[in-house]
Amino acid sequence: MGDTEKQTIRATIAIIGAGPAGTAAAIHLGQLGVRDVVLLDAHDFPRDKTCGSGLSPRAIEVLRGLEVWGRVADRAYRIRGLRLVTPGGREAYLPASDEMDVAVCLRRDLDYTMLQRALELDVRFVANFRAHTPLVENGRWVGMRARDGREVRAEHLVIANGAHSKFIINDEPTHEINTIMGWWRGVPFQDGYLEMLFDQMVHPLYGWLFPESAERVNIGITYHDPEKRLKARDLFQRFLDKHYAARIANATPIGKWQGHPIRFAYTLGPLWSPGRVIIGEAGRMTHPATGEGIYQGMQSGIFAAEALDAVLHRRVSEAAAFSRYENRCRLRFLPSFYAGWAFRQLLRTPALDWAAALAANPAVQRGLSLGLSSI
Ligand SMILES: Cc1cc2nc3c(=O)[nH]c(=O)nc-3n(C[C@H](O)[C@H](O)[C@H](O)COP(=O)(O)OP(=O)(O)OC[C@H]3O[C@@H](n4cnc5c(N)ncnc54)[C@H](O)[C@@H]3O)c2cc1C
Repeated sequence: MGDTEKQTIRATIAIIGAGPAGTAAAIHLGQLGVRDVVLLDAHDFPRDKTCGSGLSPRAIEVLRGLEVWGRVADRAYRIRGLRLVTPGGREAYLPASDEMDVAVCLRRDLDYTMLQRALELDVRFVANFRAHTPLVENGRWVGMRARDGREVRAEHLVIANGAHSKFIINDEPTHEINTIMGWWRGVPFQDGYLEMLFDQMVHPLYGWLFPESAERVNIGITYHDPEKRLKARDLFQRFLDKHYAARIANATPIGKWQGHPIRFAYTLGPLWSPGRVIIGEAGRMTHPATGEGIYQGMQSGIFAAEALDAVLHRRVSEAAAFSRYENRCRLRFLPSFYAGWAFRQLLRTPALDWAAALAANPAVQRGLSLGLSSI
């Protein structure tokens, strides 16, 4: 690269971050016929992302709408049921109903597949662009400078760079779910079943085992530690010793354990300012009880794409379109975030133990698995 001009990337829309939120926004802009979109990420792809990689029925529905589910499904492991361990130590096996699609797709594959779909729709991708300094002119966000000095300038910026984003507006203290996880090959598990363990040691959150393929699983814990008193590795080791010691004894670990926060909020926004709209986990749109964020990221990306399409086709002002975007996110996500809050309170009671005790009854089984999949 030579002069400054060459180092400036120009586009109508620049999306910072190519996780599920950013790629969904890019794909949907393409589906709507919006061109001149650039997607920039701090990494080159395929890349890993610390994540359980679970896809809920609502996430799969969104992937269908983005016309990418077929390809994701080829790489995903299909889930047919849930092994549930309650706070009181009861165990229940809950088969998913035939109509309920659940899957696990390694994030390395999911995000890369979505990026490929965006490229097919003429979205440009710029790798290794670590956004650092917003370019603001007369109060309007007009671009972003990367650590290496490159710049992107655009009519509209979409902020999609996840939990650690510094480009957000809401400076209220955000809530955090702490996590630590690892990957293994050769852990025995019931074919097609993922596992959620609501153990007291991680109350009011849970530990999990998600199968990524017939041979490979990820195991992790989510926990609440706002004052950072707990040692993540010690807590995880105790959890593994209690629940998985026998099953991982002969398994092969893959890579190192990884920790990563999940950021969430019970109030959303503000999610925009002139020139800037915030989507996905950067906007704190993750589920407070389960930590689910792939669906919310993609869905908010789609809403943002629709807002941008409306602005670019001069149907509405940017302020009206982005305000509507913010309202749509609130209406779509907040009911389930409040349900997540209620579920966390419910875990203080023996309700889940009672339900699991009755889980031999098919109606209770159905109710439990429906309830758990829709919180
Ligand atoms: C341990 C763990 C387990 C989880 N399990 C699940 C699960 O099973 N199912 C589920 O639905 N959700 C799960 N989540 C939540 C989910 O991973 C996130 O909520 C989701 O990835 C958010 O998507 P996003 O696109 O907003 O952000 P991200 O997926 O975080 O993507 C952000 C992108 O921005 C890029 N980026 C970051 N900073 C910059 C920068 N400065 N400049 C340019 N690019 C940048 C990153 O490289 C990345 O590609 C889990 C999270 C954790 C931590």
